[in-house]
Amino acid sequence: PKLSGADIREKFLAFYESKGHTRMQGASLIPSDPTVLLTIAGMLQFKPIFLGQAPRSVSRATTTQKCVRVSDIENIGVTARHHTFFEMLGNFSFGDYFKKEAIRMAWELSTKVLGIPEERIWVSVYKDDEEAAALWREEVGFPAERLVRLGDEDNFWASGATGPCGPCSEMYYDFKPELGPAGASLEDDSRFIEFYNLVFMESNRGPDGSLAPLKNRNIDTGMGLERVAQILQQVPNNYETDLIYPIVAAAAKLAGLDYHSADAHKQTSLKVMGDHARAVVYMVSDGVSPSNLGRGYVLRRLIRRIVMKGRLLGIGKEREVMPTLAEEVIALSEGCDPAVAANAQRIVAELRREETKFGSTLEAGRKRLEAMLEDAAAQRNGSSTASIRGAAAFELYDTYGYPLELTQELAAEEGVSVDEVSFERELQSQKKRSREALKSIDLTAGRLLGELAGQLGTSDFIGYEHGSLRAEAS
Ligand code: ATP
Ligand code: MG
Ligand code: MG
Ligand code: MG
Repeated sequence: PKLSGADIREKFLAFYESKGHTRMQGASLIPSDPTVLLTIAGMLQFKPIFLGQAPRSVSRATTTQKCVRVSDIENIGVTARHHTFFEMLGNFSFGDYFKKEAIRMAWELSTKVLGIPEERIWVSVYKDDEEAAALWREEVGFPAERLVRLGDEDNFWASGATGPCGPCSEMYYDFKPELGPAGASLEDDSRFIEFYNLVFMESNRGPDGSLAPLKNRNIDTGMGLERVAQILQQVPNNYETDLIYPIVAAAAKLAGLDYHSADAHKQTSLKVMGDHARAVVYMVSDGVSPSNLGRGYVLRRLIRRIVMKGRLLGIGKEREVMPTLAEEVIALSEGCDPAVAANAQRIVAELRREETKFGSTLEAGRKRLEAMLEDAAAQRNGSSTASIRGAAAFELYDTYGYPLELTQELAAEEGVSVDEVSFERELQSQKKRSREALKSIDLTAGRLLGELAGQLGTSDFIGYEHGSLRAEAS
């Protein structure tokens, strides 16, 4: 029988408990660390211990941590393995064991406890970490032909521009072992998936970029629960695991679709809805409210993205999506965070309110567009062409959430075109303004916000599908 997501979570935590780790609560998605917008990894709550700024209460801990990585937003539904919201299982050593034990335990967990076949596993180590390479060979007999050396980008882990960091060693699963080791690249994600990262946390990066040794040598790890579920449940992507599929299926049902027979584009939209639904439910549960700033802005854009994807799939404006999707997420939440079920009413109410608000915005946009079309028609004055200025189309996009393609299509029905070139100019100058505004914000938070401005701000509505919103907007 295949392991469920809940089984995998429990096996991980129980295994590390049996190895002397204390099972601890994951932290809130709202970090106490002011340099990070949202919790992006299990280590964040332990950062003060790694830095020697807080005493350790135990020497070994294990957790499951809710994470949100807004920086992965453009991968959602595009890669099989990325989410904005995911669960990271972790084992931690605070100045206790180091590389040798971390490698031995990760191997035992992966092969014996979870039952991943040894010959399917590949390992990467940091390019000059000879010690880790030797330990993989000597401690678990790992073959050199599946051990790869990677550079700073993949195998030197840091939670931000400054702070604790170190070389890491990642474990990958091979979907196509029949291709053999010759010429294989771990970057080929049709063949490999990274599932476990062991960070040998021994340095602290200062504001000037230099590395100083930490007082203790620590272990920080992260295993993606949804990815391990994909591997063990033998499904083609994380979305089809028992951890997420019920949410995707609920979105499909709202849209009158069958996920498995829907085309790839619609499947992507359904995956985005499933992914973002988890993110927004957990964010609201942890106390984030929609707003135009920081975390609240992230939340608002994610909710709007869900609603817009739903509209584009043909879900009528009289039909709410958030309450249905939120109920699914809540029903699946127990093992990850029991507080979610306790907050259910508040979560559903808050999400419903925001959906209603966005619905009114879309409706106001429709009225604004009608006025623009009347103006354009009046100015036609006998000549055969009329157009909407880029600035006006940009207003519809920026204030009312209308993708350019939608404006173009609605305008075309009245024989009116849209000035695309000047729309693009408006868009670029807005991006420039938000980049400048972000320069003053702290590096880490600033980077995340910058990515968000670049990604949500401009590709927010990229999933537009020809015609499907028209019935709604007209
Ligand atoms: P990738 O290279 O696939 O983007 P990563 O190297 O950025 O992953 P880490 O920072 O090492 O990921 O995080 C530890 C583990 O958390 C990963 O090995 C993976 O299993 C999981 N993980 C990371 N990012 C995501 C995500 N966006 N969605 C789901 N799981 C993730
Ligand atoms: Mg990544
Ligand atoms: Mg990686
Ligand atoms: Mg990694």
